[in-house]
Amino acid sequence: MFLPVDSKGMRKLKSNAPCWCGSGHKHKRCHGDRSLLARPRVEIGEVSPVRSVPDHIVRPDYVANGVVGTGRNPQVVTGGDIERLRTVGAIAAQVLLDASAALEVGVSTDAIDEIAHDSYVRQGAYPSTLGYNRFTKSICTSVNGVICHGIPDSRPLEDGDVINIDVTAYLDGFHGDTSATFVVGTTSAPIESLIETTRQATLRGIAAVEPGESLTIIGDVIEPYVLAFGYDVVREYGGHGIGRTFHADPHVNHHVVRSPEFIFEPGMTFTIEPMLLTGARQFTQASDGWTEHADDSMPSAQFEHTVTVTEDGVEIMTVNTVGQSAAGTLGDIGPVPVD
Ligand SMILES: [Zn+2]
Repeated sequence: MFLPVDSKGMRKLKSNAPCWCGSGHKHKRCHGDRSLLARPRVEIGEVSPVRSVPDHIVRPDYVANGVVGTGRNPQVVTGGDIERLRTVGAIAAQVLLDASAALEVGVSTDAIDEIAHDSYVRQGAYPSTLGYNRFTKSICTSVNGVICHGIPDSRPLEDGDVINIDVTAYLDGFHGDTSATFVVGTTSAPIESLIETTRQATLRGIAAVEPGESLTIIGDVIEPYVLAFGYDVVREYGGHGIGRTFHADPHVNHHVVRSPEFIFEPGMTFTIEPMLLTGARQFTQASDGWTEHADDSMPSAQFEHTVTVTEDGVEIMTVNTVGQSAAGTLGDIGPVPVD
């Protein structure tokens, strides 16, 4: 019901075509204007020492033994475990709200990491990324042309920066994973549209999930939607099963694929987390082994929720105890401005 574009007629909006917004200007002179979208290349700064977590907070196994499992099993969460997942999802959502509230020009991403770290600890949870495959911070912060997995460091945020904050909390055997993209200081209409289109694409992908539906519905909904606005969606990274395992099957594609049937059943839990690109599709991993940087430094945006298939639809698990999320909720799905 949320398919806004006929996926058979899937086509990326051309730069010389009239802009989707109805202004009558060419897309490249309106919401696709590269001079308004472009951001400075982000140079990697100094990474601070590892922050401590009180001993009473239980760590996932991989922190002690260094072994990240293969995650071959889809995560099906049932019974009382659903409430455990809701609890950790609410913590992750609150960490994201707390960290994003501190975004300001001149604040470093390391300072944002410290605020997030303190929020996890205050809520009794462990930051899942801290000690995962040698990642040493409690969130990922991906600024401007960094597509994902940026490591918080000493770089101060600049006016107009576009930043994704990615949070994963662990409590009572379960992980909850959520992210959102924000602008720091002043911005432009093209950047605002990039961010809102990414949020809408994410929420539309989530809304399409129900028992009996195929996993591929997510890409079928998301890719035509973002192409109609002139963006691309990253194909190399997708969502993942999550629950007792941080990263498990299935791999969730956000683009249209013809892959083996994977049918949703109640209790299946996974993330939906499309990354949208304003520039070329090529990106390169930095020497830190994590940061994925667009080769042309054009900004990207990403939103993410952990969701569980219910008896008759889907539930977003990463909302706080009063139902709020910086990544939005299904009630935020807006009308389609594209015809
Ligand atoms: Zn426009």
